[in-house]
Amino acid sequence: MQFVRLRLQGFKSFVDATEIAIAPGLTGVVGPNGCGKSNLLEAIRWVMGETSAKAMRGDGMEDVIFAGAASRPPRAFAEVAILLDNAARRAPAGFNDADMLEVARRIARDAGSAYRLNGREVRARDVRMLFADAATGAHSPALVRQGRISELVNAKPVARRAILEEAAGVAGLHQRRHEATLKLDAAARNLGRVEEILDGLDARLATLDKQAKQAARYRAIAEALRRAELALLVARWREAAGAAQAAETALTEATRAAAQAEAASLAAARARAEAEAAAPPAREEAMVAAAVRQRLTLEQAALDQKAEAAAEAARAAAQRLAQLRQDAEREAALNRDAAETLARLTEETAEIARAREGHEAAHAALEAAAAAATETLAEAEAAYAEAAAEGARVAAESDAAARRRAETRA
Ligand code: ATP
Repeated sequence: MQFVRLRLQGFKSFVDATEIAIAPGLTGVVGPNGCGKSNLLEAIRWVMGETSAKAMRGDGMEDVIFAGAASRPPRAFAEVAILLDNAARRAPAGFNDADMLEVARRIARDAGSAYRLNGREVRARDVRMLFADAATGAHSPALVRQGRISELVNAKPVARRAILEEAAGVAGLHQRRHEATLKLDAAARNLGRVEEILDGLDARLATLDKQAKQAARYRAIAEALRRAELALLVARWREAAGAAQAAETALTEATRAAAQAEAASLAAARARAEAEAAAPPAREEAMVAAAVRQRLTLEQAALDQKAEAAAEAARAAAQRLAQLRQDAEREAALNRDAAETLARLTEETAEIARAREGHEAAHAALEAAAAAATETLAEAEAAYAEAAAEGARVAAESDAAARRRAETRA
């Protein structure tokens, strides 16, 4: 396989897309210090699968992306592609179907690297294998950087052997042997793990065996339990059937009793309806009686009040009568006094008449006094007669009130 062309974009100092043709024979790159000659060699190693950022003279792999200059902003990605002539078809199977193979590697900030072979995405491992088979690669001693010659001269035999093996074209075989060794180690580790799992499974098998015996025992017990439950259910069913029969009989009895009760209820309802039909006249009478009773009660209360008033009037009349009797007695006493006075005056008049001779005038005065006394007596008698009449009237009223009260009470 021949390298035909190298294409760079955004890689280190190659900010713009740059293509470098690699013609048969010798191709030289000439330029002043710092123009980017070493960057080209690093680009070839990077596209062949370099994983060391230090080998790329950076702190991280993203340092290969153009970092910007005074007049140019930084780039977001870097891409290097190398075109290989595969006319001899020496590429590994799977990639060996084209005359020209373009291997490209692209890195973007925060997104890592990706490889493509003829536009198809491939693994970094596939790319490394492709170049190893072609007796080259990122770590190939054929790529000689500055200071590398003196390193090789002073190298240990093992390192020199690597150079000789690559020159003999067995580097790919070594790569494959290395991968086979890794796979064998992995298989051995897996085998050990399988043996551990088998041991675990043996232990688990013993447990499962024990559990299977327990399960068989459980099944037998469960079967016996099921039979016992069945027998119990049959017994309960029979019991329930007997109870249902008894309940049915009781229901029939109860239905009959209910029919009788209903008939009795109907009869009672009928009797009640009849009683209710007969009730109105009696109720009316009761209402009338109640009204009469109410009226009588009211009248009784009124009569009681009247009787009380009549008794009060009788008491007042009696007091008045007693007063009038006292007045009459006083008037009678006055009358007696007046009569005595009159008798005495008459006596005196007689004496005066006897002694009258010559005393005509005194006689006339005495007659006038006698006439006045007579008039006073007549007035007193008239007052007495009036008081007696009043007393008789009040006594009659009192008697009538007492009589009415007695009647009311009766
Ligand atoms: P010498 O002859 O002295 O070895 P050289 O021609 O090999 O020099 P390189 O070492 O390949 O030159 O290139 C170094 C140049 O690349 C420097 O100018 C440096 O600024 C530039 N460079 C390196 N990495 C980047 C980057 N990530 N972004 C921009 N420029 C970079």
